[in-house]
Amino acid sequence: MQTSETHSGPDAAIAGARLTIDLGALIANWQKLNAMSAPGKASAVVKANAYGLGVNVVVPALVGAGCDTFYVAQAHEGIEVRALAPDARIFVIYGAPKGAESALLEHRLTPLICTAEQLDRWGQLIRSMGKKLPYGLHVDTGMNRTGLTMVEAMLVGTHVDVLKASGLCHVMTHPACADDINHPMNMHQAHEFQMVREIFSGVESSFANSAAILSGKVLSGEITRPGIAIYGGQAVNDMPNPMLPVVTAEARIVQVRSAKAGETVSYGATETLAQDTKIAVCAVGYADGYHRASGNGVPLRKMGQEKGYGFLAGHKVPILGRVTMDFTMFDVTGVPDAILEEQEWVELFGSNIALDDAARAAGTIGYEMLTGLGSRYHRVVTR
Ligand SMILES: *Cc1c(COP(=O)(O)O)cnc(C)c1O
Repeated sequence: MQTSETHSGPDAAIAGARLTIDLGALIANWQKLNAMSAPGKASAVVKANAYGLGVNVVVPALVGAGCDTFYVAQAHEGIEVRALAPDARIFVIYGAPKGAESALLEHRLTPLICTAEQLDRWGQLIRSMGKKLPYGLHVDTGMNRTGLTMVEAMLVGTHVDVLKASGLCHVMTHPACADDINHPMNMHQAHEFQMVREIFSGVESSFANSAAILSGKVLSGEITRPGIAIYGGQAVNDMPNPMLPVVTAEARIVQVRSAKAGETVSYGATETLAQDTKIAVCAVGYADGYHRASGNGVPLRKMGQEKGYGFLAGHKVPILGRVTMDFTMFDVTGVPDAILEEQEWVELFGSNIALDDAARAAGTIGYEMLTGLGSRYHRVVTR
């Protein structure tokens, strides 16, 4: 197979950090999720600029792999996706807020109507235009985020034939706890949504996010909505992540210095060196989404969290002191000088450090790590 590379962002020679996005892995991940969605199909959730990877690279790759349905959070995101996928269906999760209707129509974006008021306004629009305008209904079954309540859905559902005639093409809900396989909320929401599917029978439905797909909770025939698993992140807790890593983040070593036992490193002098130490100073920091908390060790889901580390030529190199805005210091005492002289980059996460391990060290999740990466990386897309 031929490989190709495209580059964007600050030039490789002058960027402090770089991201490598493996489109082959991305496509393989989506294909796996699509196969797991049979007899239904998988869509792709590409909100927040495709979880930070870039819709401009992700959307065309997935269209090429056969994905014909995308979800974004907001209409302006949908406009970007429309330019990249002229024939796809694009659902907008925040629905049709007041004033967004004309943009939705102009770019053929399908709102997931989530309040009775939005439904009224969309209905008026349909009547004033005298034609069917496609839309979905979002029913809340346990998040208390967007969506009609079950009671509202049942009320609206008494007119299901009228709604279908006016353009209703999709009903969906969002699981709150699918990352926790045994959480009782999973059964509760699946049960509530089965009722929704019966009320709106004949209308396409959607329930499963990445975690629900990977834990075998797909409802028969639905369109699933994977996000994080396409991008290689861990969706289900306490289970090995079956997805291929897609994103590698690396930081440039700008200086290697030697410090004596008893000296301190970084702001606050929180780290006192127990021994003479070689320090690699790398040009990445919290302004690049390499979280400040990574240097402290913050407990999240499990107590006693270890602080973060990088990976350099076979060595795990711990962060020393606080991560600063533009620089992070790593302990490279164990790395031979000859290797250090050759190496330019320290891996932050990728094939040697799982995205989710790096995220845990920062007290967060892979989703937040990816969406917070920012614009200072040199970006390489390989295929
Ligand atoms: C973000 C989101 C998804 C994707 O969730 P993942 O956990 O990333 O798979 C699916 N549906 C809705 C409504 C979302 O907001």
